[in-house]
Amino acid sequence: MQKKLSVSLKNFSALRIGGQADIVYFPETLAELTELLDEQPARPVVGGCTNVFFGDLPELICVKYLNQINETAGGIEAECGALLEKLFDFAAGVPATVGGGVIMNFGAFGFELKDFLRSARVWQDGAVKILPAAELRLGYRSADFAGIVLSAVFVKKQLEKKNEYLKLRQEKMPWGQPNIGSIFKNPAGLSAGKLIEDAGCKGYKYKDLQVSEKHANIVVNNGAASARDMLDLIGQVRQAVRERTNILLEIEARYLGQTENGVRR
Ligand SMILES: Cc1cc2nc3c(=O)[nH]c(=O)nc-3n(C[C@H](O)[C@H](O)[C@H](O)COP(=O)(O)OP(=O)(O)OC[C@H]3O[C@@H](n4cnc5c(N)ncnc54)[C@H](O)[C@@H]3O)c2cc1C
Repeated sequence: MQKKLSVSLKNFSALRIGGQADIVYFPETLAELTELLDEQPARPVVGGCTNVFFGDLPELICVKYLNQINETAGGIEAECGALLEKLFDFAAGVPATVGGGVIMNFGAFGFELKDFLRSARVWQDGAVKILPAAELRLGYRSADFAGIVLSAVFVKKQLEKKNEYLKLRQEKMPWGQPNIGSIFKNPAGLSAGKLIEDAGCKGYKYKDLQVSEKHANIVVNNGAASARDMLDLIGQVRQAVRERTNILLEIEARYLGQTENGVRR
């Protein structure tokens, strides 16, 4: 297994925001991953880092080399680090992985992983188990499940509209600029982007960060932004929307790093 010491996490995050990790592990087999978790259950696990930005961390596990995909009689079985876009057209152009996708219930263009997930092999409380999809309780950009996804079985692939969806993404998003997709979840029946725009935050600049001119629920990093800057900007946008509408936006993006209460995972 590869291990890297004293690693800058900036280039891990799709937003290009990261502090320093003392050690990053890159397991190459599921057995290596479960050993790392058995040894220290609190080690955070990431896949494509398309939904996270980092502060400083003592340790991190990156599963990008666990990327086997097998077609079996029971469905398509994919390891946690396999790229979602190899299985689903609605993820085209996003380097998200199966594990991160399941945990966030990745969704776009009217589809979500919940529609396709049959079961998952997970590490939970020191044991490896196979859970039927219902037990992961996937909801809107969430899974009500505490554990690590090792691999997942999907009913089928769906790749027919890959080019069409990629083109739509490129038109709608600040393509090519560092970002981690939507920062906030849409409140029921409402668009977070519209609420942010109506609160006057579209295009708002804070240090090296900017609320995208193209999509108000996306923040882009124009250079050397820090996790502190990002947390501050999130707070400012939330506050602006709350003042105007009394709605407190729920945060979809994930921060891994130090907080006042210790390391957040
Ligand atoms: C350009 C772009 C477009 C995007 N478009 C969409 C979109 O259309 N729809 C959408 O839903 N999201 C979108 N996103 C956000 C992001 O791709 C999703 O949230 C995705 O599910 C994250 O997957 P990941 O592998 O990158 O996870 P990471 O960012 O690596 O991790 C996300 C969270 O999952 C946890 N995690 C990762 N792997 C595991 C595992 N194996 N077991 C347990 N926990 C794990 C991490 O600790 C972290 O809390 C977009 C992001 C970008 C950059």
